[in-house]
Amino acid sequence: MKVCATIAEVRDALHGVERPLGAVLTMGALHQGHLALVRRARAECKTVAATIYVNPTQFGDARDLDTYPRPMQDDLRVLRREGVDVVLVPSDAEIYPEGFSAWIEPGEIGERLEGEHRPGHFRGVCTVVLKLFNILAPDRSYFGRKDAQQVLVIRRMVDHLALPIDIIAVPTVRERDGLAMSSRNGNLTTQERRAARVLHRALTAAHDLAAEGERNAQTLRTAIHSTLAEEPLATIDYVSIANPDDLKELTTLEGPALASLAVRFGQTRLIDNLTLLG
Ligand code: AMP
Repeated sequence: MKVCATIAEVRDALHGVERPLGAVLTMGALHQGHLALVRRARAECKTVAATIYVNPTQFGDARDLDTYPRPMQDDLRVLRREGVDVVLVPSDAEIYPEGFSAWIEPGEIGERLEGEHRPGHFRGVCTVVLKLFNILAPDRSYFGRKDAQQVLVIRRMVDHLALPIDIIAVPTVRERDGLAMSSRNGNLTTQERRAARVLHRALTAAHDLAAEGERNAQTLRTAIHSTLAEEPLATIDYVSIANPDDLKELTTLEGPALASLAVRFGQTRLIDNLTLLG
């Protein structure tokens, strides 16, 4: 596995490799969720490139950026074991050179949900993803459904900018108790970790009600809120039942809907989602 720190090095390492080339973009602190992406890429592509870069421009909160875990040596070991061919681990200066100003604005879809609660988040995400796409020039890139809005925003960017890249969405990998795997889970205290089980329970409550025939979106939101209210350590950022294509809040379910939420446990903010009637 070739580990590259610069754009020039990674371009050189990928020059003339066998295609399709699959890319997995991460912020490191790798877990089974990331590995599901890597394994899918390894199974479907002749060459696999990964990136580890904690992108500062997608963090609104300086504390979140400072406490984001960075176990670089462990991550490289994991990627090597998974048979990744090339890894890019760029510096901030490599991604955002002095005077950087070429931002990508994701538009309305990036302003709902996560975008509303983390202003500028998807501007940072789109900008870094486009830059990494331009550096790696992959044929396919793998993203987790755990970040459902991110998949939508990236797909739209790829479509609107006519990038020749297939975006592949991979199902969310969960712990045995249902908690979606996340690099931030390690920041939870023991009590918060136990409390965080409520997220999947709440989404499942909405999922089951919809499966039983409930079509009123507000009733489903209320079911999520009342399950979350059972857990005193949970502070809600948002609960949403939205159209899965444009993320507009629904009144009535007429087909698949995206149930999503963001909840804080102490200093740690977690997100999760489930598709209803999918
Ligand atoms: P991150 O390192 O958090 O930026 O995530 C890198 C990629 O891994 C993104 O496409 C995420 O959606 C994906 N990912 C993170 N957690 C999970 C999970 N639990 N299951 C599936 N994919 C995930």
